[in-house]
Amino acid sequence: MIDYHNQHRDLIPGSPAQKLLEGLGRAVGFHDLDHIGAFGMPTGAYMEDMLAPAAIATAATRFGPLEKVHAFWFAGASCDGCSVAATGATNPTVESMMLGAHPGIPRVILHHPVINMESGAHYMRAAEQAMEGTLNAPYVVILEGSIMDELLAFDQGGYWSAAGEEPWGKGGELRPVSTTEWVARLSINAAAMVAIGTCATWGGIPSAEGNPTGAMSLMDFLGKDYRSVLGVPIVNIPGCPPIGDNFTETIAAVCYFLQGFGPLPEFDELGRPAWLFGETVHRRCVRGAYYEEGQFAHEFGDPECLVELGCWGPVVNCNITSRGAVRGIGGCMNAGAACIGCTMPGFPDKFTPFYKRPPGSLASTTVSRMTGSLIRPLRKFSNNNLNREVRWDKTGEVTSGFGREKSDPGMLAEVTHHFYDKMRRFNDNATNDGAAWGKIGDDGGDGRHPEQARGFKSGESSKKAMPGRR
Ligand code: SF4
Ligand code: SF4
Repeated sequence: MIDYHNQHRDLIPGSPAQKLLEGLGRAVGFHDLDHIGAFGMPTGAYMEDMLAPAAIATAATRFGPLEKVHAFWFAGASCDGCSVAATGATNPTVESMMLGAHPGIPRVILHHPVINMESGAHYMRAAEQAMEGTLNAPYVVILEGSIMDELLAFDQGGYWSAAGEEPWGKGGELRPVSTTEWVARLSINAAAMVAIGTCATWGGIPSAEGNPTGAMSLMDFLGKDYRSVLGVPIVNIPGCPPIGDNFTETIAAVCYFLQGFGPLPEFDELGRPAWLFGETVHRRCVRGAYYEEGQFAHEFGDPECLVELGCWGPVVNCNITSRGAVRGIGGCMNAGAACIGCTMPGFPDKFTPFYKRPPGSLASTTVSRMTGSLIRPLRKFSNNNLNREVRWDKTGEVTSGFGREKSDPGMLAEVTHHFYDKMRRFNDNATNDGAAWGKIGDDGGDGRHPEQARGFKSGESSKKAMPGRR
């Protein structure tokens, strides 16, 4: 097993992270909690200890060498939407992972500024221990929000976003410690670094053109060659916000890996879970058939495809139409919204102005309009036929009390469907005796086997007699 605390590693030379720590210098002092006392401990206990008795699994039933893994959640330039999405996850839930309820997955000791009960120096204690190398288990770092250039702010005596105060001032005085600084320091010995949400994965809205903060993604901050203690590149779960289940499922998969139960799950070349982001959202869209048949919404609220109202779905990697937003429900096009590409590295600059038709869609919508105008009537024709029982075709009567406003199929429809049925059954090798429903006329109307009706003797296969059939 890896000794997580005796790794002597450096940040990637020349990376923004390395430059930041070079500018700030070493951090040596930590809080003296005995001196601070119980301030910031309203419950009188650390959340990890409070939950331990309720943890459903025990070390004996959890399997694997790891009883627990710490997860440090930091927020950079964020709206906290990722926190809302993650805490709404249902498969698995954050709570069940914190309780170690999943066999094979170590208990996740989450350190989240919104969820945890301890605050102030006590809340930061575990992060300090991780830096000191005295934490009692491996840890992963989860970043929500983008990384801002704290050297810009530091020069002015301020900070962009911070978590807690540490005695890291020039004379050992307390100073707010930026999220960026925590992330840089903790990345050195992390078992995995996870970026959640588009701001953390690709920079997102805070890094849009014209921003004054120098905002960037976690990957851009730590550098291309960054690897965790276990050799894992940065894991990215994009979305604005991401689907909560995408996040918890990925964390669970990484935990299985940390536990030694399997290889690292498959990630694509941008560090996204390949099984979640391998398809465009268009391919599983509930409105996809409208696109195929050339029917497009004119205004929001219409049921058809939204491409002409600004949907970028055909070129965006996202699984929200199949997974839904929460508990399989909701999600952009399911709920009537066009895709604005929020999971993509090019978001938002390459997708603005929002809600304008993507120029590239003109060619494909023109083609689908043309083919749709031909295909739709044919499908309607078949649909009408399939909405009739075979019995009704024989008796000429529809027995619904609601009645059919449409007249019975005319001669043209009858003849067309007769030949269509012939084509459909061309490869039908069934050998059941007697007339089968739907084979109008095949039995010659006298109940004989269809092949007998065609003139074959018993035991003589039509396959032999018909060249080309096997
Ligand atoms: S609404 Fe968007 S994703 Fe859905 S079918 Fe239309 S273009 Fe594709
Ligand atoms: S469908 Fe588009 S806007 Fe909606 S979550 Fe996916 S990428 Fe974002």
